[in-house]
Formats: sequence, C-alpha cells, structure tokens
Amino acid sequence: MSGLEIQAVSKSYGAVRAVAGVDLSIPAGQHTAIVGASGSGKTTLLRLIAGFEAPDAGRIVLNGVVLADAAGTMVPAHKRRVGYLPQDGALFPHLSVAANIGFGLEKGADRASRVGELAEMVALDRAMLARWPHELSGGQQQRVALARALAQRPKLILLDEPFSALDTGLRAATRKATIALLDAAGVTALLVTHDQAEALSFSEQIAVMRDGRVAQAGAPIDLYLRPRDSATATFLGDAIILPAMVNGGWATCALGSLAVDDAQRTGSARIMLRPEQVQIAESDSARVAGKVVDVEFVGHSCVLTVDLASSNGGQTVQVRSPVGPAPMVASPVRLRVAGPAHVLQD
Ligand code: ADP
Ligand code: MG
Repeated sequence: MSGLEIQAVSKSYGAVRAVAGVDLSIPAGQHTAIVGASGSGKTTLLRLIAGFEAPDAGRIVLNGVVLADAAGTMVPAHKRRVGYLPQDGALFPHLSVAANIGFGLEKGADRASRVGELAEMVALDRAMLARWPHELSGGQQQRVALARALAQRPKLILLDEPFSALDTGLRAATRKATIALLDAAGVTALLVTHDQAEALSFSEQIAVMRDGRVAQAGAPIDLYLRPRDSATATFLGDAIILPAMVNGGWATCALGSLAVDDAQRTGSARIMLRPEQVQIAESDSARVAGKVVDVEFVGHSCVLTVDLASSNGGQTVQVRSPVGPAPMVASPVRLRVAGPAHVLQD
C-alpha cells in the first residue's frame, strides 16, 4: 500500500515504554490526527517516523520503502522525504526568513526562486523574506516553519502541535490554510494535537494514544459517536455518561428508557450521549423531569446542570441551552433526548 504503515512499533527510554506496540496506517495523501494526554507517546512516535529515533521493535514503511525495522534497517532522517514541524516551531533565530525556508535546499542559482515559490505557497508576503524570525507574528512563524518543511518536497509531513502557540481565531485560520496547502500538495500528513476540534476537523482518521498505545483509531465521526471507552469519549468532547441496564437495544437509566446502538449487549453497562443529544423541552409531554442546580454562561451557550428527578438526587446531567433567558437555578425543567445512546465497553 502506498502511504505510511506503522507496524507493532515500540520504543523505550530506560524503564519508560514511550511507544508500546503501535499499529497505524495512513493512505497516501490522507490526513491523520493523533490526540492523547501529555506523555502518551505522541512526539516519540513522530520522532521514530522522522528518523530521529530508532524503534526497539516493529517496522515503519513509507510508500513501500522500509524506513526502519527491528532487523536494523534505519534510513537516515534526511533521506526519508519526511518533513517535520517540531512542537515549538523552532526557526533558526540567527537566520533570516529566506535562509530558514531554504535551509535544506542545495545552494545554487534556483535556490532563491524556490524560496520565493515556497513563501507564496504558504501565503507569506515576499517582503517578509528579509526579516528575522523575531520580527514575525506567531502565525507567520508557523508558516515559515511549514515552508521549510515543504522545501524538501516531502512525501509525508509530521506536524507536532503546530498551532498550539496561536490564539483561537488565528489558530482556526492557520489550520484551514495548512489543510488546503497540504491537500494541494497531495502530501500525506500526520498531525499531533490536543485540541479535539482541531483533530476532528483536520483529518480523515483520528488515533487516540494512551500510555504509548493507540487506544482507538477511526473516522472522526465514528470516534466521536462510538468511542470504545469513557476515556476516549471524554477526550473527544463533552459527554454524558450514565450507568444503565441494557437489553435488546434499549437502556434503562436516569434519563428513562433510551434506544442504544448495541442490540447484542445485555446487563449493566455505561452509556454515553453527547450534550447536543439532550435538550430542554418546551412541552410538558417530555418525560424526563429534573431540577436545575447550576447555570454556567460559556459564551455560545449556557451549560445547565440538571438533577434528574427519577434518580432521587445525585444523578446530574449537563445540558446546553441557547444563550437567552435560561432557566434559573432551582427551577424545574423537562428534557428531551435525541438519537440512540452509545454503549461503552468499560
Ligand atoms: P507526548 O508527546 O505525548 O507528550 P512524549 O512522546 O514526549 O509524549 O513522551 C512519552 C514518554 O516518554 C514520557 O513519559 C516522556 O517522559 C518519555 N520520554 C520522551 N522522550 C524521552 C527521552 N529522550 N528520554 C527519556 N524519556 C523520554
Ligand atoms: Mg509532545
């Protein structure tokens, strides 16, 4: 298969198993996002792919060429055609923007024109080329780092939390521009992020890393709606997780009787709903009643914490309510649940 294949790759530092048997493939030209808590092995995995570390076990194959394996194959980093944007961007502070972009290019007559071409590719004004890195904004520095990585005409590009230093508006704009650029260049890309929205919007595939392993990988919508366990569920967004008795495709829980997406499972289980599946109901006909115990304004909506009447206190759910006159604390509310609940494995 063309693209990136990571097969049973492990890497330890002393007693720390930073990467512990990772399998992952990215078809050529596609994007995958890796998410995971700090210390879960994301950077180590990228460094293994880039060739800055050698795996203790497993194989890394790019477009059919073995880059590294346990038998001792180790293609040097500069021969891999893999572009790497490290976590801190890391422009050379003592080199101009042009020299940063052209760092890995052969010296020659066409170097300057290639640098100009790359600047254009990342929508960087040519006037910026004579500047020093510290004279650029965070977003511009990011684009210079991207241009430098693209200079090698990589077959694969690795981005380690590239947008984390940017503020919200710029971050979304830079992300969109980067995705468009990678698409246009047809480069296979692997993005590490701990921003869920970034992961969900960047890629065809998300891999969730935990303790050096891929806990789950799949299409963003599948991971969002059908996470295997509660840790993955909460990592990818807010989740309402409730204990339930499950039988024949239905769950009995504090929100009443709900359809679930697993007809085989029986017995006690934990089920998950995304907050957008639960709404404050206008009519009295909605069955689930509760009492508002907290109201939090978060900008685009209010988050109501509702104590469910059926649970005799104790079981609360968080519900989003549009900005406007939200129910007050202590007022009774009724809830409506949309779509099936998902049965978790843990
Ligand atoms: P992440 O990028 O997900 O935050 P890392 O890959 O940087 O995680 O680190 C994974 C684990 O490996 C951590 O426990 C970290 O302390 C350890 N680690 C990473 N690099 C080294 C190193 N060069 N020497 C020793 N331990 C390391
Ligand atoms: Mg890291």
